[in-house]
Amino acid sequence: MKKDNCIFCKIANGEIPSKTIYEDEHFRVILDLGPAARGHALLIPKEHADNLYELPAELAAEVLPAAKKIAAKMRQKLQCDGLNLVQNNGETAGQTVMHFHLHMIPRYENDGQQINWIPGEPSEEELEAVMRQLAE
Ligand code: AMP
Ligand code: ZN
Repeated sequence: MKKDNCIFCKIANGEIPSKTIYEDEHFRVILDLGPAARGHALLIPKEHADNLYELPAELAAEVLPAAKKIAAKMRQKLQCDGLNLVQNNGETAGQTVMHFHLHMIPRYENDGQQINWIPGEPSEEELEAVMRQLAE
């Protein structure tokens, strides 16, 4: 289902033009207009889901196979040295467009880009507590 006034619904379904590099039954992959690096693309499902939580499991299962195809193409055609997959869920996590999308960011030696986090220094007890909380 599409959602009214969702820009990625319109883009994914071809109602708004985009720099499309791949399209199949379920997805459209477009160039990001504010790329972190050359070839930065967004894999967007044609069906609306706000985020990963809302994405139907069957569609979620199609995301990585599609991304793998694009990844191979990026390496072959752009000769990138690496690739980051980034997927933000919720404003707190940096999501600005509330329609699930997977960032595919080709990386080049010395591209000057940073896609990183500040590593924490948890105690053994804290790691143990988190493990228990999540594993049970
Ligand atoms: P996020 O912060 O994960 O929600 O990422 C949204 C991304 O969409 C950003 O990297 C934007 O540069 C990109 N973006 C927003 N609008 C468009 C658009 N119309 N076409 C292509 N990329 C877009
Ligand atoms: Zn949408």
